[in-house]
Amino acid sequence: AGAASLALTLSACGQNSEGGSNESDGDAKGGTIGIAMPTKSSERWIADGNNVVKELEAKGYKTKLVYGEDDPDQQVSQVENLITQGVKALIVAAIDNKSMNNVLQQAKDANIPVISYDRLILGTQNVDYYASFDNEKVGELQGTYIVEKLGLKDGSKKGPFNIELFAGSNDDNNTRYFFGGAMKVLQPYIDKKQLVVRSKQTKLNQVTTLRWDGGTAQKRMDDILTSAYKSERVDAVLSPYDGISIGILSALKSDDYGSKAKPLPVVTGQDAEVASVKSIIAGQQSMSVFKDLRRLAKVSSNMVDALLNDKKPEINDDKTYDNGSKVVPAYLLEPVAVDKSNYQKELIDSGYLKESDVK
Ligand code: BGC
Repeated sequence: AGAASLALTLSACGQNSEGGSNESDGDAKGGTIGIAMPTKSSERWIADGNNVVKELEAKGYKTKLVYGEDDPDQQVSQVENLITQGVKALIVAAIDNKSMNNVLQQAKDANIPVISYDRLILGTQNVDYYASFDNEKVGELQGTYIVEKLGLKDGSKKGPFNIELFAGSNDDNNTRYFFGGAMKVLQPYIDKKQLVVRSKQTKLNQVTTLRWDGGTAQKRMDDILTSAYKSERVDAVLSPYDGISIGILSALKSDDYGSKAKPLPVVTGQDAEVASVKSIIAGQQSMSVFKDLRRLAKVSSNMVDALLNDKKPEINDDKTYDNGSKVVPAYLLEPVAVDKSNYQKELIDSGYLKESDVK
C-alpha cells in the first residue's frame, strides 16, 4: 500500500480506537506504534495505555492503542489488525501469554519488533525485549509484609497464625513469579507450623484466580471461610492484586471480620489502585505494591525508539526471563511496598495519585 492509502487506513481505524488519543500528526520519523493492552477493567492498564501513548507521542510517533477486554482471541485479532495496518513496532501486554505465537510470527515476517510489556510472552522467538518490574520481588514484598505484621519476622510472636493464599491468573507468566517470591518468604514459616493454611490449598494450581477476577476471589474466600474456619480465625491473606484483595475483603466483611471482636486479617495487594489506597487509609486492606507505571511507559517507549533507530535498548537483566524459546533481555523496575505509613510519600508526593482521588 502506498503512503496515502496507509494514512487512510490509519485514520479510518482511529475512529474505532478505544482509549482515544492518538492519531496525532507526528513527523515521518514517527510512523505508528501499535500498543495492545489486556483490559480496561483495571485502572492500571488504562494508565499504562495512556502513559505509553504520551511517551511515544513526545518522541514524535503516532500510536494506535487497543484493549482486548480480557479475551485472548480478541487480542490476537487486534494485534493482527495492527500488523496489517503497518505499525512500525508493537508493545504488547498479553492476556494469555501463550496465545500470541502465530500472530507474532506475522510480526516477525513483517519485520516489526515486539516489546513484551509487563507480562512475558511465552513460547516464541518473536519477542525482542521485555519491560517489566522485578516480579519476584513483588511477591517477596507481599510475603515479607505478612510475616513482619504478624510479628513472626522479628520473633516477637511465635504463632501459629492462620493464613490463606491467593494467586493471579494461571495464563499470566507473572503469576508464578509473584507467588514464588511470596512463598520463598512464607514457606519456611509454614514448614515450622508458625503459619497454617487451614484450607490446605497451598499449591499454585489450587490458588490461582482466572483473569485476576475479584468476584472469583471473593467466592473462593467465602467457601474457605465456610469450610475451614468454623471456629478458627484467619490472620493473614496473601493476595497478589488489589482487585482480588477487594473481593477477599468483601468476603471477610460479610463474615463479620472488621468488627471489634473479629479484626480483619493482614491482606496484601498490588498496583496501588485508588479503591485499595482508600481501603488502606481506612485501615482495611493492609498494603499494596506500588509499581510506578510512568517509568514502565518510559522504559518500553525507549526500547521502541532505540530499535527503530538501530540502537541497542537499555537492559538491566539478561538471564531471568526465559520464555521457553529464548531468554528475553529485560529492563526490570523496582516495586515498592506501600501502606498507611508511606503512601503519602510514595503515591501522593510523587504525583502518582492525587490526594483528592484517595480522600
Ligand atoms: C500485572 C499486575 C496486575 C495483574 C492484573 C499482572 O500481569 O503485573 O500489576 O495486578 O496483572 O492486572
